[in-house]
Formats: sequence, structure tokens, C-alpha cells
Amino acid sequence: MSLYLYDTASRKLAPVISTHGTTTMYCCGPTVYRDAHVGNLRTFLLSDLVRRVLRVHGVNVKLIQNITDVGHMSEDIESEDKMLAQAKAESTDPFVVARKYEAAFHTDLARLNIEKADAYPRASESIELMLAMIEQLIAKEFAYVGDDGTIYFSAQSFPSYGAISGNRLDALKPGHRYEYSEDGAKRFHADWALWKSAGTRTQMIWDSPWGPGFPGWHIECSAMSLHFLNSHINLHVGGIDLRFPHHENERAQSNAITGNESVDLWLHGEHLLFEGRKMSKSAGNVVLLKDVIDRGFDPLAVRLCFLENRYRSQMDLTWASIEAADATLMRWRKKIEKWGNQAPQLDANFLEIIDNDLDTSKAIQYLRNIEKSDGLKDRAAIFLFADRVLGLDLGRQEVVRDLTVEQEEILALRQDARNHKRWAESDELRMKLEASGLEIMDAPEGQSWNWR
Ligand code: AMP
Ligand code: ZN
Repeated sequence: MSLYLYDTASRKLAPVISTHGTTTMYCCGPTVYRDAHVGNLRTFLLSDLVRRVLRVHGVNVKLIQNITDVGHMSEDIESEDKMLAQAKAESTDPFVVARKYEAAFHTDLARLNIEKADAYPRASESIELMLAMIEQLIAKEFAYVGDDGTIYFSAQSFPSYGAISGNRLDALKPGHRYEYSEDGAKRFHADWALWKSAGTRTQMIWDSPWGPGFPGWHIECSAMSLHFLNSHINLHVGGIDLRFPHHENERAQSNAITGNESVDLWLHGEHLLFEGRKMSKSAGNVVLLKDVIDRGFDPLAVRLCFLENRYRSQMDLTWASIEAADATLMRWRKKIEKWGNQAPQLDANFLEIIDNDLDTSKAIQYLRNIEKSDGLKDRAAIFLFADRVLGLDLGRQEVVRDLTVEQEEILALRQDARNHKRWAESDELRMKLEASGLEIMDAPEGQSWNWR
């Protein structure tokens, strides 16, 4: 038995392989200029899932996830480094912005039970690696110095360009916006910048043999993946939007350096919609994990929602589905406790479903059927085994404490105060409830509470 995944490049299912007993994995990390939204988290969960499945199979995994803290340009016409734009908006230093959102990213991962990668190299601390790689690319004539002092990768120098995305060079029209605008020093429209000349930019720039500048986003991932994973990546993970141009360009750079196929399998997760719409800052519908917690839900309810959909289909997350998943989690934990203290027990049926291109949707359905099989003695053992892959903390004991009579009374008084818009009184009662160990949430449909 082994895990098969859909490889974007060969457009086929392929087994995940390992080199010298370890599967090397690279997952494109966040650009740390804002909080990760639940869509980003769906993609980050994908590498966690793969890693957990491989571990159940007894395979060692080394996972590297980069932190993009420089060089990722916005897609606007007036292209700007996302870090610098946010630093301006927050009137602070771009490195302060970067470290703040990097910390928030780690908090989110922990809340979703996404286990830590083996390393999180920062782009801004890997500049030497990138410069060394760019020098090699120039020496091998895959890259050239443009008239503007910027170093470009020559797309035409790499014959199999387009293998991942299907976007072959002869079909890419000039003027098609698949790369942020540059100053016109490129020799061919599909070339891209490896190192950008600083020009008037004064922040986040470094010295280089070609003068001060900063790296392009694509070279960052080539440099960090090859360096940290010993020049060969068994499995490369990212969201579907990264297939082109990011991963196409990364493949060209990395293969030009190694002289062979540097990545065995390219895995892409489909996007997440929220309440039927693409999340965007301008539409004002970006949902963070923090918002889920603020509504009183277990953040792992989001993880369960993700698992109920297979990674390769676009999914729509809704508040109703989070609420339902929250209730399911609570019910499962209580039942597992009731079914009795059992050690996890390998379940071949569950593993077979998962091994087939991570069919988590079918796996959850399988567990729902196990739940209903009253005659089955080892239900807890199966659930707890499944949880090694699912990461839902199913062994957690849900302590359900009843409210005290006094708490019940205060809650009723507070609801009355709110109904009659006596806000000062409502605030005072909230403080009393909080002092007694409750957390109070207010929503248009009324107040709700949790034990803290
Ligand atoms: P970023 O921080 O924008 O560089 O994105 C981090 C990761 O999240 C990348 O792998 C993206 O492909 C992925 N991503 C962005 N938007 C979504 C979405 N709506 N659903 C799923 N993944 C996404
Ligand atoms: Zn990347």
C-alpha cells in the first residue's frame, strides 16, 4: 500500500516516492503581509495531511515551508512589493510587518493542528543562496543581465517550459498579463526577473554583483527548496493559482541548475470559496480563523469542513457548515469516550480510501457509517487511528460542565438588558459572567457562551 496523488505535470495519479528512506516535501508558504485567510489554510493543511499519511505508512518526511517576506509583487498595474505596500499602510518598517504576520501564521497552524515543518526559511535570510543560484544561471546562459541592471531568466532557453501548466511559450501572447510589469528590458515577453535592480527603492534591498536590488518571488522557492532538501524534491505542494507562472518558473530555474527533473510530483490544492464567493479584501468577505473562534467554534471544525471535501475540488465553506462540523466534532469526542478506552488500531479500509488521492470526503463518510454500526466493538480504536491522519483531536475529552444557577440567572438578566438596549447594564453583567469563567459571544440572534 502506498499513497497516490494527482500529479499536475503528468496529469496522472502517481505514487509518492522517497529518496534514501525520506520523502522530501516543499510547500509554498505565506507572503507575510497580512493574516492568512481560511483559503490559505486549506492549502497549508494539504501538506500536513500528506505528511501524516506517509507517517502512518512508516515513511520519514522532511517538510520545508518558506516564508515570503520580500519580492512578491502585487498584481496591480502599479506593481509594488506587497511587504512595502503594507508597511506604508501600517506606517511601520516592512520587517516589523513581516515578523508580525509570520507569528500569526504559526498561531493559525497550531490552532488547526497543522504540525510544524522541519524548517521555515525566510526569503530575506536566504539572499546568498539566491545570488549563488543566479550566478550559476547566468554562467549556464539561462539568464542574462538586462539593460536596466535587472537579471532575467530566458524562458526560451528552457525547452520544456510549460510542462506543468500546459502554457507553452508559442501560445503565450505578448501583453498577456501573466507576470507583473517590468521596465521593458526583457528580451522576450515571457522572461521573468530573478534579481531586480533597486532603482529608487531604499528598503529591503541587498548588495549583489549587479548592484543593489532584491530577489524575484520565483527564485526564492527554487533556492530554498533545493538548498534545504538536498537538490531533490519528491513532492511539491501549493494552491492551484501557483501552477502558473510561479511553479512553471520555479521548475525552469531548478531544473536548469540540477540538470534533471528536480521535483517528482507537483500537487495542487483547489481554492476555497466562502458563502459562494471568492474571498477578497475589496469584497470585504475575507474570513480568518480568528473569526471562527470569536463565534465560539472550535477551530478544528474548519479542519473537519476541509476534510469533508477532497483537496482537488473547489469547496464552499459556510458558517452553517462550520457550525455543523463543530457539533459533529463534539459528538464524536463524547462517543469515543463513551465507547471506552481503546488504543488506535490500524484500519486497512480507511487507509485504502485515503491512499487513493487523499479521498478525505469518502473517509469521513466511512467514519460516519462506523459511528452508526452499533454492533462494532472497536469503534473507538478505528476513530483514533483515523485521527492520526485527520488531526481532529478526537481523543480529547469534552468536559461538559453545567452552568451554576447564578450564571443562568445573570445570563437571563443580561438577555433582558440587551433586549431593552440597556447596554451599560449588559456590559456589567458580561464582566460578572467572565469573572465566573465564561466567555460570552454576542451575535444578532442573541448571546451565547462557552466555558473558557
Ligand atoms: P499567499 O500568502 O497569497 O502567497 O498564499 C499562500 C497559499 O495559499 C498559496 O499556496 C496559495 O495558492 C494559497 N491560496 C490563496 N488563496 C486561496 C484560496 N482561496 N483557497 C485555497 N488556497 C489559496
Ligand atoms: Zn513558492
